[in-house]
Amino acid sequence: MSEKLSTLLLEWYAREGRELPWRVKGGAHPDPYVILVSELMLQQTTVKTVIPYFYRFMERFPTIQTLSEAALDDVYQYWQGLGYYSRARSLHATAKMIVQSFGGVFPRSRQEVLKLKGIGSYTASSFLALAFNLPETVVDGNVIRIICRMYHLTKPVDEIRGLIEEKATALTDIARPADYASAIMDLGAMVCTPKNPKCLVCPWQKYCLSAGKDDVERIPVRHKPEKKEKYGRVYLIFNAAGEVFIRRRTEKGLLSGLYEFPWSEGDAPPAGAKEAGVEVSHVFTHFKLVLRLYILKAETYLADGRFVNPEELSIFPMSTLMKKVWVAGKECRLLKNKLHSDAGLVK
Ligand code: SF4
Repeated sequence: MSEKLSTLLLEWYAREGRELPWRVKGGAHPDPYVILVSELMLQQTTVKTVIPYFYRFMERFPTIQTLSEAALDDVYQYWQGLGYYSRARSLHATAKMIVQSFGGVFPRSRQEVLKLKGIGSYTASSFLALAFNLPETVVDGNVIRIICRMYHLTKPVDEIRGLIEEKATALTDIARPADYASAIMDLGAMVCTPKNPKCLVCPWQKYCLSAGKDDVERIPVRHKPEKKEKYGRVYLIFNAAGEVFIRRRTEKGLLSGLYEFPWSEGDAPPAGAKEAGVEVSHVFTHFKLVLRLYILKAETYLADGRFVNPEELSIFPMSTLMKKVWVAGKECRLLKNKLHSDAGLVK
């Protein structure tokens, strides 16, 4: 049956599959660099959001060579607004590694691809399938949903992950893994959607054990909802004496009463704030907070805080998140330069 299912899917893909700027239908993409960039951009980001960024990025960095020679700040410029800046850093580091350690030739073995920055198991499979047509099975949220519905698997995903991977592997068309990977992604994005799956137009409807069932939208079953991610900016603000600004958090709720470096979720950075190229994240009970670090020089700042000698910071109770901010800040190049210039306040 697996051969028949994959054939049905590939026929549907040839007719209905999306045209995407990083995609060719009918086999692997001729340029693995295109796949690398798109895969990194697509991590945790929708296709619709990625498309304009992808075009701009490829215009500025058309080859792995140009990306490897670019300054990281330049790469950030073209990533600005896409979020998850660690991906931009990883992509830049990977480009350098491929040029410097692999002579500009992309590795083709899973073992080597996994050594590249920002490439985990899922991205490695996807990259190898799409860039080299290697028989890898891609198992992401879309595929998990389709497989669980196809076989009406109603146990929590965490408990049956092995079974899901086994079934996903059995369905993969090993003669056309690149097209198959793209096709199953499109099926999940366009037909077997989380809400209102379009079973009537699904190429697998005839064989699907969930088609037409009342519980189809409740599959796959997950133990608990995935944590939401929130994003913001945090500021290390120094005066001319090298003191750093902190304030006590008075708002009720999250981290109230603790001292913190100023941060906010939505506001634009104040004039003169410099991005340090560092993100700090922390997982709270119901969400994950990712803060991008900025450095600023100022003699006064908000009225509800004070400048303190960095050596005295340990006196003020701070959340783990803020401690991470300080540690990350101390490690980043921009702050090191700042501290050096302030002669010995922090070593
Ligand atoms: S028939 Fe419906 S539930 Fe089954 S795979 Fe297709 S869209 Fe998903």
